[in-house]
Amino acid sequence: MTIVTVESVFDMKSGDMCKFDEYGWMIMCPGCPDAHVHLTPKERPWDVIEHEDGTITVNPSIWHKDDCNAHFFIKKNKIQWC
Ligand SMILES: [Zn+2]
Repeated sequence: MTIVTVESVFDMKSGDMCKFDEYGWMIMCPGCPDAHVHLTPKERPWDVIEHEDGTITVNPSIWHKDDCNAHFFIKKNKIQWC
């Protein structure tokens, strides 16, 4: 996974992660070319830990059941498939 700085979610591609002021972290699915958006705003159940080395960890796992069925953890920017 790669942390990027973009103006719009439409500039993101599969495997990109970006922190937006308005929405918080947005994480594009790394498991399919559709790159549907996984959103992790405050009201959703994900915690995003921002490490001192600039990487992030997301808890709990992300599971896109309704689309490509990708199920993974992000630990220090690395994907751990479930
Ligand atoms: Zn997907």
